[in-house]
Amino acid sequence: MTDLVRILGHLLRGQTSLWQCYTSVTWRTCKECLAWHGRIVAHPAEFPAHEGCPRELRRFPVWRLRAYRRMGRRMADRAADELRRRDLFQRARDLLSVDPEASLKLFDQAAAIDVYLPEVEALRDDPALIDPSLRARVGEIHLARWKSKFARERYERQPEIARTEQERWGVQRIKELFA
Ligand SMILES: [Zn+2]
Repeated sequence: MTDLVRILGHLLRGQTSLWQCYTSVTWRTCKECLAWHGRIVAHPAEFPAHEGCPRELRRFPVWRLRAYRRMGRRMADRAADELRRRDLFQRARDLLSVDPEASLKLFDQAAAIDVYLPEVEALRDDPALIDPSLRARVGEIHLARWKSKFARERYERQPEIARTEQERWGVQRIKELFA
């Protein structure tokens, strides 16, 4: 079905607005809400509310369906990336004391997708990180990826002062955690 046919179908049913489901994608967004990220619904009630996960419905005119579907695909990709990141991060943690080299590789792959400070803080309590050289390397990986996270396009839309402050705060925090 082409977008034009979809648009005409909605208009024939008297529907001039649609809604795009949006949830803030973070380390703690639940899988159910991630699955809704970017989906387009005809009625707001279709998007289930979930306590703890921020939710937003973005209304748009039916004739902009094509652009919103394209955006929806990007949002779904981002949600899928987050699930992949969690899996990589968990596998890295599981391997930390068993196979540190494999673990470091997985941490780097996970952190290339995104770095969330609360997870990095929790990671610091891992008994395997008593080893100072392993601890330093885990810190280096997250520090480098944290810095590149701020260089990426989506952060460029934030006001510059907020961006650099957030980045600096994270750099300092990661350094003190893995010192
Ligand atoms: Zn949820």
